[in-house]
Amino acid sequence: MKNIVLRGHHLLCTRLFIGNGYDEEFAVRMGEVVTKMELDNFSDGNKYEKTDMITLVCKSDYVCEKCPNRVEERGCKLGDKDVLQKDRLVLKYLGLEENKSYTLDEIKGIVRNIKREQFEEICGDCRWYKAGYCSYENL
Ligand code: SF4
Repeated sequence: MKNIVLRGHHLLCTRLFIGNGYDEEFAVRMGEVVTKMELDNFSDGNKYEKTDMITLVCKSDYVCEKCPNRVEERGCKLGDKDVLQKDRLVLKYLGLEENKSYTLDEIKGIVRNIKREQFEEICGDCRWYKAGYCSYENL
């Protein structure tokens, strides 16, 4: 069984990822995770062992390891407060629990339940939303 640890708001980011990232290393890591989750929006073309469990956290995760904005073990150069709030809101609105593991199928089925106004509350101040890469319609 292959498990990935993901922070809450990355449930949205993985669904909307189309290959862009803060830098090449980050985009490659995100692409790997999205490919392992077998989401429709992106594949990096590699064959991985499929992920079948996702453990949800409200802190730095496997994707953050390759972020150029990461500071030491857990911190974020852009500030932690907003990003933690995004994590918590995603879990709250989807009825999911921090530090709990879910099957990939459970996660895939539930993410689309987020409402438009909730999505805009979570993503409205994100640079990728403002740049037009992420939209509720594509979730
Ligand atoms: S707008 Fe930002 S936080 Fe929201 S899904 Fe896109 S990249 Fe993730």
